[in-house]
Amino acid sequence: MHLIELELRGFRNYRQEVFRFDQGVNLIVGSNAQGKTNLLESIGFLGSGKSFRTQKNGEMVRFDEDFGEITGQIYSQGREQNIRWLLFPGRPRQLWRNGVKKKSAADLTGLLPSVLFCPEDLMILKSGASARRRLGDTVLCALRPNYEAALTEYNRILEQKSRILKDSHEDIRLLSILPDYNERLCQVGALLISYRARFYQSLGAEAARFHGQFSGGTEEFHLEYKTVSTVEDPFAPTEVLRERLRAHLESHARAELQSGQCLTGPHKDDFTITLSGVDLKAFGSQGQTRTAAISLKLAQRELMKREFGEEPVLLLDDVLSELDEKRQDFVLNQIKSGQVFITCCEPGRFTKLGKTMEISNGQLVEG
Ligand code: ATP
Ligand code: MG
Repeated sequence: MHLIELELRGFRNYRQEVFRFDQGVNLIVGSNAQGKTNLLESIGFLGSGKSFRTQKNGEMVRFDEDFGEITGQIYSQGREQNIRWLLFPGRPRQLWRNGVKKKSAADLTGLLPSVLFCPEDLMILKSGASARRRLGDTVLCALRPNYEAALTEYNRILEQKSRILKDSHEDIRLLSILPDYNERLCQVGALLISYRARFYQSLGAEAARFHGQFSGGTEEFHLEYKTVSTVEDPFAPTEVLRERLRAHLESHARAELQSGQCLTGPHKDDFTITLSGVDLKAFGSQGQTRTAAISLKLAQRELMKREFGEEPVLLLDDVLSELDEKRQDFVLNQIKSGQVFITCCEPGRFTKLGKTMEISNGQLVEG
């Protein structure tokens, strides 16, 4: 699959621009704040209806415009197809696929999936659990629309429960509806754990393969999914998981009431990585951390490729220039197939990789 042509109107700092891309590597160069990341954002959004920068669609509309438009001509599932998005500040967005209006982005699943790799991802194994959860959730949502629906539902119930816990300090009667919310949380939470257990198992196996290649087999990479402590086996049937979640909730019920916060459930999940048995977060060197992060990203791409039968589009935002030559080569060797978009300020040794495009102030520089 690949993006053939992209048209942006009123998107971020682009007034109107048309891009034609190479099926392989596209190098997007330009000084700071010219629109390189904006371009990657639009490509990611085109295939998923999600921005890696914002939850608010209106933010992507150019400041002086009433609406924004992203239109892409793509090759996917054996034929040319067209995706068109209209974005409005403070109004629902609109989507067309091959000229037919669609209700939801779920209709695009597998059509133009993408994997973003940016400098913050290099630190993901040293940062807080929420960044790692986000990484896992992003991939799982792209792979499994049913997971995304369950996650949305879980977060909705969680938010309502949080409000009840907080407001119950003023109005004790609210606590009578808490058990219903807890029950729903256990039910949907069990589903999330079930999906995640399988997903992290595959992700860990793929990442271990990449890490092994890079380290020449000297380090044994192992990823472990961490969920609620009462869940001994995350692969257990969902009825069992539900039971285990209920047990944990019950033992923390008093603490939740006292703190007014939701303390237990898979919204606290995380994963850890060990290299030959040593915990990376606590003891990993900068180089080991980076290599492991790269391996995770490549694994993510591999899982998507396996699921959709085609290589997802890879978006490398400023990440290559952050790496030493050895790691650059490791990444470049792995991206010889599929369509890749690389942004950088100084193309340097990358210019011979593929088609180079220069962006200046939201416009393509002809030449
Ligand atoms: P860097 O090399 O620093 O990462 P970049 O080329 O990736 O730069 P972008 O992040 O793509 O830069 O573009 C940033 C520019 O886009 C900023 O100047 C910002 O003000 C502008 N911008 C962002 N959102 C909008 C918007 N909705 N309307 C108009 N301009 C916007
Ligand atoms: Mg940028």
